[in-house]
Amino acid sequence: MTSDEIIALADRYLCPTYARAPLALVRGAGTRVWDADGKAYLDFFSSTVVANLGHQHPAVVRAIEAQAHKILHVSNLHYCEPQAQLAEKLVQGSFADRVFLCNSGAEANEAAIKLARKYGHAQGDGRYEVITAFNSFHGRTLATIAATGQEKVRVGFEPVQQGFRYAAYDNVDAIEQAITARTIAVLVEPVQGEGGIVAPAPDYFRALRDLCDRHALLLMFDEIQTGMGRTGTLFAYEQLGVAPDVMTLAKGLGAGVPIGAMLAAESVANVLDKGSHGSTFGGNALTCAVGVAVMEVLENEGVLANCVAMGERLMAGLTALAGKHRMIKAVRGRGLLIGVELTQPGAPLVERCQAAGLIINCTANTVLRLTPPLTVSAAEVDEALAVLDKVLT
Ligand SMILES: *Cc1c(COP(=O)(O)O)cnc(C)c1O
Repeated sequence: MTSDEIIALADRYLCPTYARAPLALVRGAGTRVWDADGKAYLDFFSSTVVANLGHQHPAVVRAIEAQAHKILHVSNLHYCEPQAQLAEKLVQGSFADRVFLCNSGAEANEAAIKLARKYGHAQGDGRYEVITAFNSFHGRTLATIAATGQEKVRVGFEPVQQGFRYAAYDNVDAIEQAITARTIAVLVEPVQGEGGIVAPAPDYFRALRDLCDRHALLLMFDEIQTGMGRTGTLFAYEQLGVAPDVMTLAKGLGAGVPIGAMLAAESVANVLDKGSHGSTFGGNALTCAVGVAVMEVLENEGVLANCVAMGERLMAGLTALAGKHRMIKAVRGRGLLIGVELTQPGAPLVERCQAAGLIINCTANTVLRLTPPLTVSAAEVDEALAVLDKVLT
């Protein structure tokens, strides 16, 4: 099919839930993707921060192929080898002791919210409220739109799930003021992704950890966007000098197959007893086999070091562009999760970049979001910077 045919077919039959650019991608390799008409693009969005290892990474393709020849799905009433192996890898690579596997980011946050409530009820003091940050993003299910600190995701879906309170981000006093006798947990992103790539200093998170300890609250990090190497370490919290009690993952964990995970310390995780939570597809054999492969690549192939080096290169190039183009107000981020704040809406620039063969994203209206694969090369970074320079001119 041509791009036009695919677009017409999709627009005819799919729910119109997305503001899509007229781009139909059919193939990818590394940082490069191709549309149905054969035009090539640099994917500096990693297909929504999912393709952290680039497209069609050989280890991922091999894992899918090998698992497809064995078994695709095992019931959660039985045991599944790749599921156990992935849980082991996630525990060994993090603060956590136990893992609940699911199929998306929102589901991982649902598991974290359910865990927090069950933990509160288990303590017998009636605490169930979760504090989240304004401008956060935690997903699109009924509980996660209530957790998300943005009114716009809730409009039209009332009544909103109860048990959430919001406080300013990067402000410990604001969180402290939001604490009530019913508060059980604080859920925040180490870097706000959809919120405009806002990355508070480690001090904030240390003070937040301290506050949570003093009030016996669970500290829960949504690392769905920041995890899996995106900020230069396997998980962003490693750079903050504190560990959470609960962490959620998705996006890059599956390199393109749908998977989510909720990780927790033992003392918290053990309240999720038999029958208390579940998912038919959670811990699916195929997606977990891919997750194991992703973890192995991140552990062994210098991807994190490349992320740090290419993040510095991209940041330096963007800072140079900021000196040249008045339209750029600020450049910020961690690793390869980078935001370029503009003095005007970013959508027209995203469109012009696409026409010039560069896929980027705009979030929070005025922030260009650059999230290339962590395997991106120096030449590709320079190519993207040249396109941006031209488009900004
Ligand atoms: C993408 C994202 C989610 C939601 O993940 P889905 O897989 O779309 O449900 C939640 N939190 C953060 C920080 C995200 O970036």
